[in-house]
Amino acid sequence: MSARWYDEALCVGSDVSVFFPEQGDSAEPAKAICRQCPVAEACLEENLYEIHGVYGGKSGKERQVIRRDRNRALMAAHSNDSTGLRAVS
Ligand code: SF4
Repeated sequence: MSARWYDEALCVGSDVSVFFPEQGDSAEPAKAICRQCPVAEACLEENLYEIHGVYGGKSGKERQVIRRDRNRALMAAHSNDSTGLRAVS
């Protein structure tokens, strides 16, 4: 993938306010654009720690859940590895 993934972003030129819905407004219009976006995966990874807005088709709360789940998976992996080292094959 290009280092400049955002060159292919579908939201370029869109109304930015769609991606930052007011509290109580639907994020679905933004998510509908993201679902069609060819760089949604890269966008999500780049913006995973953004608090507000829709990125990669995910809201701030949805990104928070992703971060939490990843952290839990990492902690579980480390707790199963008493040496803290990984085998090299
Ligand atoms: S996934 Fe959504 S926010 Fe991200 S670049 Fe594409 S359209 Fe824009």
